[in-house]
Amino acid sequence: VAKDPGQQEFHQAVKEVLDSLRPVIEENEEKYRRDAILERIVEPDRQLMFRVPWVDDKGQVQVNRGYRVQFNNSIGPYKGGLRLHPSVNLGIIKFLGFEQIFKNSLTGLPIGGGKGGSDFNPKGKSDREIMAFCQSFMTELCKYIGADTDVPAGDIGTGAREIGYMFGQYKKVRGLYEGVLTGKGLSYGGSLARTEATGYGLLYLTDEMLKCNGIEIKDKVVAVSGSGNVAIYATQKAQELGAKVVTVSDSAGWVYDPDGIDLAALKEIKEVKRARLTEYKNYRPNSEYHEGRGVWTVKCDIALPCATQNELLLEDAKALVANGCIAVAEGANMPTTLDATEYLQANKVLFAPGKAANAGGVATSALEMSQNSERLSWTFEEVDSKLKNIMVNIFHNLDDAAKRYNAEGNYVVGANIAGFEKVVDAMTAQGVC
Ligand code: NDP
Repeated sequence: VAKDPGQQEFHQAVKEVLDSLRPVIEENEEKYRRDAILERIVEPDRQLMFRVPWVDDKGQVQVNRGYRVQFNNSIGPYKGGLRLHPSVNLGIIKFLGFEQIFKNSLTGLPIGGGKGGSDFNPKGKSDREIMAFCQSFMTELCKYIGADTDVPAGDIGTGAREIGYMFGQYKKVRGLYEGVLTGKGLSYGGSLARTEATGYGLLYLTDEMLKCNGIEIKDKVVAVSGSGNVAIYATQKAQELGAKVVTVSDSAGWVYDPDGIDLAALKEIKEVKRARLTEYKNYRPNSEYHEGRGVWTVKCDIALPCATQNELLLEDAKALVANGCIAVAEGANMPTTLDATEYLQANKVLFAPGKAANAGGVATSALEMSQNSERLSWTFEEVDSKLKNIMVNIFHNLDDAAKRYNAEGNYVVGANIAGFEKVVDAMTAQGVC
């Protein structure tokens, strides 16, 4: 904390991981101390911060700050998204990069951990302004990334449009046509099913977790927060599995639709019009729109936080438990605060942490990297079935890890241990570096 003051989210993520690793750390205390494993794993390989100047539509020069934290490449090239949101700072990028190490390890694929982004706010910007920002951002970032070194992807505020502009600029400046970014468009090396992957993967893992606890997802009522990429495809897959999703939200308010969210309307509002959720009522007069927070006050069996970090607080956890919620699975990164997580677990709510539950996105990004290397494109069904296998395997790996350390049913402990063991094994084998 003294070394990195003000990085609350990073400290929160490190505390959660290290607390749950306690049994492994105790078992290997001497070795970890000698090899400074913990000291090394919390220190990024490098942290890049840079100026991103761009010209807005009025001819005014704007300046944002760009970040890329290359955290750990013990098991493969750095891999993790680029977040564009005004809240972005070094602490947030570090927390995301740190989590990414273990998430990527859990996928079983050869990818290390990294994360990046900028405090640029894409909301309300014209296409030209977005392009100007993305080009300037990539003009600097392209010096540090590459298909075999660091492969960024999308995240909050970075979708297919932004990835396209960044890819174009990388190609122009570096003169290389290579799989340096994932989440690309299908016409230039993108993977089918990448758009759907995080939301679908969340449901594949949730379904497996429920099944292994003797519960069917069919006919369950689901509360989803967020209305971006993860939330939309989580809603879609939940509906395909026979559950009823009754909420979605954004940073201004939330929708309650007692008849179940109309997916076509949601997609049109968010993906086509890029509009706000206040529009949803025009499509579904029976639905309710509420300003501010409140998704977690709705009666539901399953809660899927899919918006952002620290969006499910202790008071929300209490409301969920009081309303009979049986499972929470994190689509977003660290959406549940530590005290809320502990409350849910203490009240026997099945809890799947984001680093496992939302790993489908990065896993499919790694599949995109494989397709780029092979110069081949797999079918939607091929990618989707690999994704499903990966998510089911992740659940069993963390379930087994929890059991090995007498923490049966504690999937937070299981995910951290399973992710950590592989990374430490690789770090140890590669010596002090
Ligand atoms: P999007 O930008 O597509 O959507 C984000 C959603 O969350 C929007 O509805 C947004 O509302 C809402 N949101 C953002 N910030 C806040 C806030 N401070 N308070 C309330 N709501 C907020 O992002 P994604 O769907 O891609 O990402 C969502 C989460 O999932 C993030 O935590 C991301 O790191 C994580 N994730 C995403 C992956 C992916 O493949 N996309 C992979 C793994 C994790 P508004 O429009 O009002 O801003």
